[in-house]
Amino acid sequence: MINGTKFLFLLFFLICIKNYSQKIMNIDFVTGIDHNDLIGDSLKLESKTFFAFKKMEEAAKKDGIILKIVSAHRSFGRQSFIWNKKYDKFTKQYSLNPIDAINEIVRFSTIPGTSRHHWGTDIDIIDGKYPDEKNVLMSEKYLKGGVFYDLKKWLSNNSEKYGFYLTYNNDPKRKGFEFEPWHYSYKSSSKKYLKALINSDLEKFFKNKNLNGYEYFDKNFIDKYILENIMDINPDLK
Ligand SMILES: [Zn+2]
Repeated sequence: MINGTKFLFLLFFLICIKNYSQKIMNIDFVTGIDHNDLIGDSLKLESKTFFAFKKMEEAAKKDGIILKIVSAHRSFGRQSFIWNKKYDKFTKQYSLNPIDAINEIVRFSTIPGTSRHHWGTDIDIIDGKYPDEKNVLMSEKYLKGGVFYDLKKWLSNNSEKYGFYLTYNNDPKRKGFEFEPWHYSYKSSSKKYLKALINSDLEKFFKNKNLNGYEYFDKNFIDKYILENIMDINPDLK
């Protein structure tokens, strides 16, 4: 027999689990349309990622490295703006046909709704010791001789201790998005969002979203994009 108090606790616990799993599986949340649950001021993160980053930031500071996030959560609206602008540039200015334009965009940018930045679990990091540095997200700046080499070395040795993994590594066999030495994912949270994303009906989702070129996002295209772009990442994050 369970008494009244225990019963209420159990009920409360079950409601919490139900709400949590619904939130994770909600397509608007996964695709960056609804993002009310994030924390932070100008740069917003999912709460577990936020606190894990704070710990990593403190540890880095003790070693003389200033971790600075330049991109955290990005909304569907923002990603759509980037996408539509690039699509117009490639189709109008460079006269590419729509399929070639889409393939060119997805070398570096995600289709809105599929960005890992929608989740608040992914961050782009630079070294805050160089505030005047321009065009910061360039791979060569993170390699030997580059301005962010010390930062990169610190992250390679320490980030996984705090749950952050490099997403788009430089494995030559990897397809999809190019090498991004600055982009890290908070593993335990991002894995749940990834699972929810690949189980979503994206073909249905892309309709009525005012995305340029969406009429070319048929089932074959989406399956290939999921396999080669969204899933061809650091295997630790799958
Ligand atoms: Zn990024």
